[in-house]
Amino acid sequence: MTYRSETSDIPAIVLNDGQVMPKLGFGVYKVVGDEAVGTIHTALELGYRSIDTASFYGNEEEVGRAIAESGLPRDEVFVTTKLWNADQGYDAAMRAFDTSLKRLGLDYLDLFLIHWPVPSADLYVDTFRALQALKRQGRVVSIGVSNFKKAHLERVMAETGETPAVNQVELHPYYAQAELRAFHAQHGIVTEAWSPLGRGTEFNDSVIIGLAAKYERTPAQIILRWHMQLGNVAIPKSMTPSRMAENLAVFDFELTGREMTQIAAIDKDGRQGGDPDTFAMDAPV
Ligand code: NAD
Repeated sequence: MTYRSETSDIPAIVLNDGQVMPKLGFGVYKVVGDEAVGTIHTALELGYRSIDTASFYGNEEEVGRAIAESGLPRDEVFVTTKLWNADQGYDAAMRAFDTSLKRLGLDYLDLFLIHWPVPSADLYVDTFRALQALKRQGRVVSIGVSNFKKAHLERVMAETGETPAVNQVELHPYYAQAELRAFHAQHGIVTEAWSPLGRGTEFNDSVIIGLAAKYERTPAQIILRWHMQLGNVAIPKSMTPSRMAENLAVFDFELTGREMTQIAAIDKDGRQGGDPDTFAMDAPV
């Protein structure tokens, strides 16, 4: 299945609520300033049909402007944004959603995620209830979470009766999250990989380099192909048009089962970002 678009043919995945999401999207963390609108516009021209932003990234307006300027029909672009830690809690989340949607200049959102669980604030269940209300109101199509560990997911599912459509987590070959992926698969949660390229840390790994040579691809393409074959959604970021295009060109070759196992073997618990159990930047007090 491909994403519903006449101008792009990115393979897609069906979420547990029936919505279709492109398997590759464009991440826009740190895509800010004068270049932001142009860069996102270029991504859409190159064929990206999914943009991953967040209130925290400070570029929702630029994302909205680039989509509007692209001239693409609204239903051909899948837009994700995230609720920042400071906005957790039912009422605050409702207000934050309004603000994000306004900044994006959209009348509905495709996917809204809770950016971090912030267990110390103990508000993520109430926050998820706000997301459920927004979904019932038809203002967002799909709701999910980010940086949730198994225990956080279990609590949301038990206390709200709803399974998040997506969990967006740090995931790259040195931090492959096999256990969490298995839990997602068991519950019908799509795994979305952030920092899918490990911000470049695995480009010099001998297994990745060997496969790049075999397939005459770049290390980035080998890693993104690995994500696709695992069934992940991935949202690589680049400001360089040639790399943006390269990162999309991963659908015309296939790694063997043995090669997938070789990549699995280089996992070394190499987390780069915060620990979801303790990360609490800007948390409500
Ligand atoms: P990434 O793994 O996508 O790496 C990005 C870096 O890799 C770029 O800055 C660029 O220098 C390099 N790069 C990209 N393509 C390349 C290529 N083809 N060849 C060589 N180098 C290349 O890391 P990221 O930017 O941290 O993550 C991607 C997206 O994930 C972000 O933009 C954001 O949307 C999302 N994200 C979410 C969270 C979260 O907490 N939910 C956290 C971090 C990032």
